Amino acid sequence: DYLVTRAGGEPARLVVLAGPTAVGKGTVSAYIRENYPDVLLSVSATTRKPRAGEIDGVHYYFVSDEEFDRMIAADELLEWAIVHNSYRYGTPRPPIDAALGAGRRVLLEIDLQGARLVRRAMPEAILVFLLPPTWEELVRRLIGRGTEDAAEQSRRLETAKVELAAQDEFDVKVVNRDVSEAAREVVELMAVPVSP
Ligand code: 5GP
Repeated sequence: DYLVTRAGGEPARLVVLAGPTAVGKGTVSAYIRENYPDVLLSVSATTRKPRAGEIDGVHYYFVSDEEFDRMIAADELLEWAIVHNSYRYGTPRPPIDAALGAGRRVLLEIDLQGARLVRRAMPEAILVFLLPPTWEELVRRLIGRGTEDAAEQSRRLETAKVELAAQDEFDVKVVNRDVSEAAREVVELMAVPVSP
C-alpha cells in the first residue's frame, strides 16, 4: 500500500529518493538508470572531484566553485546543499521541467536537506526514504565500500544517525534489502495514481 496523498489525484511523476548515507541510494538509482531507461535520473552538479569510474555528465556534472556560484546566481538549481560539511551538490532545474512537461517520470537522488527544499519548491513530489535493513548493515556498508578514510567514515556515521531520525517526514519508506526489489518499489510509485 502506498500511503501517498496528493491534491487532485494526479499520477505521481516526480520522486525524490533520500535516506541516510551509505544506505545504498546510489546503488538503487544506478540500478534504475540501467533497468528503467524511461525514468529520467537527474544528474546533479557538484564541486566534489570525480571518483574512479565516475563520468562527467552521467554520474554528476563536476564543476568548479565559480561555475557552481554562477548556477546559483542564474537560478538554474532547483535546490542545492552543502553535504557532509564539505562539497556543494545541486539539482539542475531545466532538465526536470522539460522532462515533466513531456510527461516523463523523474527521479532525484539527493540528501535530506535537498529533499526538504524540493518538498517546498515542488509540493507534488513524492518523498521516499530508503532505509537499511538494520543499523549494523548500514555501518557495514559504509566501512565496506572503502571510499572514505576513517575520519570521514565517522563523520558520515554521525550524519546517518541524524538523518535516520528524519524518516517520518517522508511520504514513503522503502527498505533496501535487495537492490532490484527496492528499485522496483521506487519506480512503481511513479506509476500509481495517488489518492486525492
Ligand atoms: P557522494 O559524494 O557520495 O556522491 O554523495 C554524497 C551525498 O550527496 C549523497 O547523500 C547524495 O544523495 C547527495 N547529493 C547528490 N546530489 C545531490 C543534489 O543535487 N542535491 C543534494 N542536496 N544532495 C545531493
